Amino acid sequence: MSTKRDFYEVLGVSRNASSEEIKKAYRKLARKYHPDVNRDDEKAAEKFKEISHAYEILSDPQKREAYDRFGHAAFDPKNNGAGGFGDFSGFDFDDIGGAFGDIFDMFFGTAAGRRARRGPQRGADREVRLDIDFEDAVFGVEKEIEIYRMEKCEHCNGTGAEPGTGVKTCPSCNGSGQIRNVQATPFGRFETVRPCSRCRGEGKIIEKPCSVCRGTGQVRKARKIKVRIPAGVDSGSRLRIQGEGEPGPYGGPPGDLYVTVVVRAHPAFKRDGYNLITTIEIDFVQAALGAEVEIPLLGGGFYTLRIPEGTQPGDIMTIKGKGIPHLHGHRYGDIKVNIKVKIPKRLTKRQKELLAQFYDGEEKQGKKGLFEKFRDAMG
Ligand SMILES: [Zn+2]
Ligand SMILES: [Zn+2]
Repeated sequence: MSTKRDFYEVLGVSRNASSEEIKKAYRKLARKYHPDVNRDDEKAAEKFKEISHAYEILSDPQKREAYDRFGHAAFDPKNNGAGGFGDFSGFDFDDIGGAFGDIFDMFFGTAAGRRARRGPQRGADREVRLDIDFEDAVFGVEKEIEIYRMEKCEHCNGTGAEPGTGVKTCPSCNGSGQIRNVQATPFGRFETVRPCSRCRGEGKIIEKPCSVCRGTGQVRKARKIKVRIPAGVDSGSRLRIQGEGEPGPYGGPPGDLYVTVVVRAHPAFKRDGYNLITTIEIDFVQAALGAEVEIPLLGGGFYTLRIPEGTQPGDIMTIKGKGIPHLHGHRYGDIKVNIKVKIPKRLTKRQKELLAQFYDGEEKQGKKGLFEKFRDAMG
């Protein structure tokens, strides 16, 4: 066979021709050299084949790009896997069994069908839920999660063929991946193109399916993935781990894994943004006279909180900078301490006497109780 001519030259278009120009040029030439018009003309048949092949490549943006970069080598079966379209079979008369009807229905149907052939696709994203302890959310933690996902079958290296056996061209569709059906009706010929069911549109079938993955090339596997939970995450935080989703079909890139964090409750602390909220109970003498109280901290240790004298029930005290680290940045939230004051239910005789004396003292200093204030107000 003579050396292949440049595809742009074959169609008589410039290298930067638009897809519309390419289509137009092809239609014109196809009409001229179509075998129906040039019966028993070897040369025309050859020419037609050449035009169709050039159009097949240049009408497909992906193939056109490959051709622009690598030339004819892009479609050489020897270059399979090296950026080429190794299984490309070109346009062949045998493909359509010589059933020529309306040439344009036929060709444009075919070209469109070919383009729909499946290529590499991005894998699906996965989403998992991860329950973590309150402290882990505050300080950050590294966790290992286990997910089941499809992975390349090691036995057949993802090919789906039992090792030692080959892959052959699908006999049902002759490798095109499509079944064409031409029907003659009173309104003309209709051609339908559907994916070949035998090879699922791939054009190739496996001689003997892999015994492990049954020909799919993928197996479901448990996979452990390390997840670094940053300090400061909260319930509902979503972490994206790139490339740990489902693998991409036909050699496409994998999807991503999303980890949704759910934080378990803590017996002593609640969270409000980056602040920690806690409640302590002191007795009324501590509230009245002031005291030092140990507040347990998350992650161990205590903070000595000075309760000033005269602290009231419901007062909130702030411990600066001992709260939750900001997710982005170096600042910390605070601890907000709600003060509850215990009033004793039982007192000894001595305690009662002391309190009575205390009350008398208050009276003498002229401080009025609620009852007196009320009485004054009534006049
Ligand atoms: Zn396998
Ligand atoms: Zn097939």
